[in-house]
Amino acid sequence: MRDVPLYPLRFDPILKQLIWGGRRLETILRKPLGAGTRYAESWEIADHRDDVSQVAEGPLKGVSLRDLIQTRGNELLGQHLGPASQFPLLVKYIDAHQVLSVQVHPDDAKGKLLANDNGKTEAWVIIHAEPGSLIYAGLNPGVTRPEFAEALKTGQVEPLLHRFEAKPGDCIMIPAGTVHAIGAGVVLAEIQQMSDATFRVYDWGRVGTDGRPRPLHLAEALESTNYAAGPVDPLNPTAIPIAGGTREPLARCPYFALERLRLNGPTTVGSHDRFTILLGLAGDTEIRTGETADLLGFGQTRLLPSSLGECQLVPRGESVVLTCVVP
Ligand SMILES: [Zn+2]
Repeated sequence: MRDVPLYPLRFDPILKQLIWGGRRLETILRKPLGAGTRYAESWEIADHRDDVSQVAEGPLKGVSLRDLIQTRGNELLGQHLGPASQFPLLVKYIDAHQVLSVQVHPDDAKGKLLANDNGKTEAWVIIHAEPGSLIYAGLNPGVTRPEFAEALKTGQVEPLLHRFEAKPGDCIMIPAGTVHAIGAGVVLAEIQQMSDATFRVYDWGRVGTDGRPRPLHLAEALESTNYAAGPVDPLNPTAIPIAGGTREPLARCPYFALERLRLNGPTTVGSHDRFTILLGLAGDTEIRTGETADLLGFGQTRLLPSSLGECQLVPRGESVVLTCVVP
C-alpha cells in the first residue's frame, strides 16, 4: 500500500437513517439507497469513532481513511496541517425530509468537557429546497440566557429562533454555539469539524422510532450557546473571475475555508502543502492529475491528497464545484 501513489480519493458513503430523513439522497443526489424510507445523512468523508470512510475505488480500494492518516499522513494532509491522528473535517450530504431537531454544538473547550469530542463549527451549502422550506439559525436579537432557559423548560423555543426561507445556493455559516435547525424540504452539503457533539434542545413534539421522545440535552445546550452571537443569515458572496469561470469565497473559519467554482473551462485547484476536498454541486467535472483522469459528478465528493499538488479541473460543458481546504 505504501508504494501506490495517492490519487483523488472517493470514499464509500456511510449512510445514516434517522427519523427525519427521506429518499432524496437517491432521487436528487443519485446515491444508491436500500429499501428504508428515512435516509437522512450520507457521510462522505469521516473519521469519527466507529464511522470511518473506506476508499471506494482504485488501488487503495477498501483502505480506511484512518489507516491512510496513520501510514500516509504526510502525503495525504501535507506540511501545512502537520502530523495528525485524525482527519480534521467531516463532510456530509443531508436530506431533511422532516425538520431536524433544534440543536446547538459546543466549541472545542466545551465539547471536550461536555461530550468528550471536538467542538463543532459547521457550514451548509443548500442544494435543493422545497418552496417555503426554512432554515433556523441563531437566536433573535437580545435573547438572553434566562429567556432561553425558560423557553427550554416550556418548549416554546421556536419563537426565539431567527429564520429565513432556504434557497438553493445559499451558504450558511454555523459557528459553534449557534442554535439552529434545518427545516423540512432542504437537501444540503455540510462541512464541519470532525465531531458529533450535538445538544438537542427541542424536537417539535415528535417521538423516535421506539415511540418515545428522543433525549434532550438542555443543561449542556444552555452552557454551549453563544448568547452574544444573534441571528445568522446566508452569506452574500462575490464572484471573482478566474481562468475557466469564477470563484466565490464562502464560509471561512479557522477549521475550513469554502469556495464555489462556477466553471465553463479548465482551472486548477490543489496545492502541495495541504489537502483539498471537492464536492460536485452541478454538472460533471474531470479531475486531471499528472497521470490520471477522474470524473466528479453531481452529489459526489473527492479528497485530493496534498501529494498531488495542483490538479486541473475540466468541466463537461458547465459545472459547479465546492472546494474546501484548511486555511
Ligand atoms: Zn448542526
